Amino acid sequence: MKNTEKAPPVSNFIRNIIIEDIKANKNDGRVITRFPPEPNGYLHIGHAKSIVLNFGLAKEFGGRCHLRFDDTNPTKEEVEYIEAIKEDVKWLGYDWGEHLYFASDYFEKLYEYAEELIRRGKAFVCDLSPEEIREYRGTLTEPGRESPYRNRSVEENLDLFRRMRAGEFPDGSRTLRAKIDMSSGNLNMRDPVIYRIMHVPHHRTGDRWCIYPMYDYTHCLSDSIEGITHSICTLEFEDHRPLYDWVLDQLPVPCHPQQIEFARLNLTYTIMSKRKLMKLVETGVVSGWDDPRMPTISGMRRRGYPPAAIRQFCEKIGVAKRDSVVDIGLLEFCVRDELNRTADRVMGVLNPVKLIIENYPEGESEELEAVNNPEDPSAGTRMVPFSRELYIEREDFMEDPPKKFFRLAPGREVRLRYAYFVTCTGFKKDEDGNIVEIRATYDPATKGGDSPDGRKVKGTIHWVSAPHAIKARVRLFDRLFSVPAPERVKEGGDFTDFLNPDSLTVLDGCMLEPGLKDAAPGYVCQFERRGYFVVDEKDFVPGSPVFNRIVSLRDSWARIEKQRQQEEARKNKQKSGRKR
Ligand code: ATP
Ligand code: MG
Repeated sequence: MKNTEKAPPVSNFIRNIIIEDIKANKNDGRVITRFPPEPNGYLHIGHAKSIVLNFGLAKEFGGRCHLRFDDTNPTKEEVEYIEAIKEDVKWLGYDWGEHLYFASDYFEKLYEYAEELIRRGKAFVCDLSPEEIREYRGTLTEPGRESPYRNRSVEENLDLFRRMRAGEFPDGSRTLRAKIDMSSGNLNMRDPVIYRIMHVPHHRTGDRWCIYPMYDYTHCLSDSIEGITHSICTLEFEDHRPLYDWVLDQLPVPCHPQQIEFARLNLTYTIMSKRKLMKLVETGVVSGWDDPRMPTISGMRRRGYPPAAIRQFCEKIGVAKRDSVVDIGLLEFCVRDELNRTADRVMGVLNPVKLIIENYPEGESEELEAVNNPEDPSAGTRMVPFSRELYIEREDFMEDPPKKFFRLAPGREVRLRYAYFVTCTGFKKDEDGNIVEIRATYDPATKGGDSPDGRKVKGTIHWVSAPHAIKARVRLFDRLFSVPAPERVKEGGDFTDFLNPDSLTVLDGCMLEPGLKDAAPGYVCQFERRGYFVVDEKDFVPGSPVFNRIVSLRDSWARIEKQRQQEEARKNKQKSGRKR
């Protein structure tokens, strides 16, 4: 595993259960977990929480974690999803080694167990239709009624079940049901269906089966067959735990894993249902499962989120027994935290306007030294060209600025990052009043950005040399949804009502330092003052890379926090003033 955690593991209730189990030498001290995705979509950040938890615990306690595809549902699964899921788990930094499994590998064994349940008088073939089964099931307040087929003999049940398997009956005409308790307060225990007839080929078993086992029956037995010790799942399975235990208690299984439930991850401004994400893909709202705005692992990879940041996020949010919603700002914070340490700094002008240095000799240029990463001296320096014609950001100039504007304006002096102090001498406008050119003079004595006479400037702006710059396309992203809880919809509404129309901005004609010309797909850097960017993996044009913004530099959290502190400082000052 590439995963080299710096901080000691954060404790949680599941980890504590495992520590106690090891102390008591339960399972001979072994820890075997699994991550069991259904291959009916791409993995999302919620799955990452489960992956980090399952693989993380196995790693911490010297055990192992299996990757098991829960592919019991033959109509839904697709090979594309299986490959994508494997790639995503690996990219997150985890390795299942030889332990890649498919629930469908166990179909024969599951069938044998089902015959055994019948022989033990614990399952029966039921001829009720799906509607009738629902009718007989009762409600939360009313007990269910027993199926009229519940008391068939073992012989009759075995004969019918074998004929179900042989394909003698049409879809939906019969089921195999566990014989538990129709008056149970837990609906899952009211003689649940464990096999249904579906004349549908399966992507792995082909036409071999026309009966398929249900999830609850399959999952516990798959866990047991693999020798799983701790079967960790999300809270919605809490009510299924009695059934999980019941099945394992009826059968001569190799072991009885312990099911433990935790609260799933919910994130603000994000949807996580695979069905809804699929809808975004299918209706073309996004460009695919890996659209950089998607909360999928593949989307985040393309967006440039480092896997270490996602792991850090999953550790930070912790594991609880109660549902909660996490602020997406925390994920962005983790991304910045990681990139701040690792990303090269470069200069890129997203919205360029020309700056002419009037006293710089025409046709000449020079190379100036720039620091690659102030957080990491080992990253070294690079040379960037400087010349008479530069590009700066349009927003770094104001014709008629307020007092607090510390960037360029007529008569004002600023520092060009790693270059010189410049003083604005004028500007030109076109007929429509747009500024097309700014003029300035530079002070050759301030080379490198320091003035020998101790003269101070308040602003430092970034720039690129116009004749040397490369022109690039840059994509900026905003949240896909404009409200914090897009799944909480009004009646008759839909989560798509809350799509943010401005979630994607494409800027053509951005001007970047020439060194970026040959940046490879996946290359990550910080454009100073503009955020972190990655070269898109898919839309890659050699010599003319397309950059995606990973995240802006300062989060709203930091801004809000700063404002609050300033406000507080101001109030304190007032207070102490009054006291005096
Ligand atoms: P669906 O969206 O189709 O209901 P799912 O999100 O439950 O499916 P699975 O493929 O069944 O997807 O999930 C695989 C594993 O990931 C399960 O153990 C599930 O509990 C876990 N998981 C899914 N979503 C989350 C989430 N938001 N937070 C934590 N774990 C999750
Ligand atoms: Mg599921």
